[in-house]
Amino acid sequence: METVQALQALEAIVGPSNVLASRAERTVYSYDASVFRGRDLLAVVFPQSAEQVAELVVWCNQHDQAYIARGAGTAISGGSIPTHGGIMIELSHMNRVLEIDTVNRFAVVEPGVINQDLKQALAQHGFGHTYVPDSGSQVVSTIGGNVATNAGGMHCLKYGITSNHVLGLEVVLPDGEIVELGGRIPDQPGADLAGLLVGSEGTLGIVTKIIVRLTRLPETVVTQLALFKSVEDAASAVSAIIDDGILPAALELMDQAIMRIIDQAVHVGYPTDAGAALILELDGLEDGMQRIVDRVAQMCKANDVISIETAETEADAARIWLSRRAAFGALARLAPQSYIVDGCVPRTKLPEALNRVIDIGERYGFPVANLAHAGDGNLHPSIPFNGREPGQTEAVLQAGRDILEVCVELGGSITGEHGVGIEKQDEMPLMYTGTELEVMRRIKLAHDPADLCNPKKIFPLSMLTDGAS
Ligand SMILES: Cc1cc2nc3c(=O)[nH]c(=O)nc-3n(C[C@H](O)[C@H](O)[C@H](O)COP(=O)(O)OP(=O)(O)OC[C@H]3O[C@@H](n4cnc5c(N)ncnc54)[C@H](O)[C@@H]3O)c2cc1C
Repeated sequence: METVQALQALEAIVGPSNVLASRAERTVYSYDASVFRGRDLLAVVFPQSAEQVAELVVWCNQHDQAYIARGAGTAISGGSIPTHGGIMIELSHMNRVLEIDTVNRFAVVEPGVINQDLKQALAQHGFGHTYVPDSGSQVVSTIGGNVATNAGGMHCLKYGITSNHVLGLEVVLPDGEIVELGGRIPDQPGADLAGLLVGSEGTLGIVTKIIVRLTRLPETVVTQLALFKSVEDAASAVSAIIDDGILPAALELMDQAIMRIIDQAVHVGYPTDAGAALILELDGLEDGMQRIVDRVAQMCKANDVISIETAETEADAARIWLSRRAAFGALARLAPQSYIVDGCVPRTKLPEALNRVIDIGERYGFPVANLAHAGDGNLHPSIPFNGREPGQTEAVLQAGRDILEVCVELGGSITGEHGVGIEKQDEMPLMYTGTELEVMRRIKLAHDPADLCNPKKIFPLSMLTDGAS
């Protein structure tokens, strides 16, 4: 089929104003927030309904075209990169909050709803509930993208990741059928098929509606910033707090390198002698909260804390959080690109993991700054680099692979939250045997025998060479 005819067919499905096909437009949508770039995109289409998504999928099947669902394109592992051309199905126009039911504690949203927009809608109308998952990209990333990547965030320690907040999905399957998986009530009979879709990175179908769980806002929230002499001290405090039976809502760790970078950008005034910072958020009933705050202070003191600041006002709390949320923007001031590695270790292994990360950076000649969702053992070594300099991208990716090997060696995982995409497909054998990968691949091909739905992602390239086109 000629390109002109193909574009006419796509325009007939979604309307001419909802198809982008100029060279510049196709180039823009060949990137996401990863260090990779796609190619040969035929067009970007903006459907308005599940029925239009289904028609697009059927058209792709008929014309042997790959298709990739895209929310906001903030994926860091290359999940929304078009590696094999085809069409980009951009869901940002499907962005309505369809229903909010606080009594039964759910909301129904379209996939293009931006995470923070749902939170704001709930806050503005005084519902007393929120949608908890709060990835660092929450101001731009979509709930559809969060579901597809099973996104984590700062409050996952206590409240769980996205999969813990999804009750049901409407999905366009790779044969173009629209199905509903899960539903408004928990404990649906049969296998958890919605669970299968969550985290499948758009490779098993396109999510067109999500029933999310709402959570009642806590009665009180205490936000604290604790400064330590070293990462070891901060990490020991984290282990001691959790071992004591206290489950903070958030426990974010920053090392000295990232504190300096953040301070230069947003001037929070971190002392230069602090080797690490912990942001702690405690939430729950007002009654008894002071006892927990005192106990946490004891644990921090036992680990040589330099100082603990407790936010007195919402503005104080916002300032404490700003430092963490500004980290990726601050990194962008240092170099044209930053490579954010995403690995996970048992939380007690964090100090060893972070020390070995620094060694790896030194070996490759990169400065590394470390952020971690410390309570979950999820580390994000961040490496500023210049991909325009020959060999830099390859070197930074190799450093990332070495870091992931360390994570697995320490009993952890190659991803804490960003997914596999194309970045880590060759690291999957570090986690799974050939048989386990084969089981996953069979599920993919049972749904999508032609491998057109976000093709050739997640699985090691060696598994894909003989597979479907
Ligand atoms: C500054 C920054 C901070 C970040 N912080 C975090 C963090 O704290 N936690 C975290 O988990 N991630 C984080 N990320 C990574 C990223 O934001 C998340 O993976 C997010 O969930 C992606 O959402 P998106 O809307 O941008 O999806 P996209 O990037 O558009 O897509 C991501 C994947 O989901 C698929 N997809 C998208 N929409 C659908 C759909 N409707 N149906 C089926 N598949 C779909 C795509 O094909 C792709 O594989 C961060 C990224 C940045 C840039």
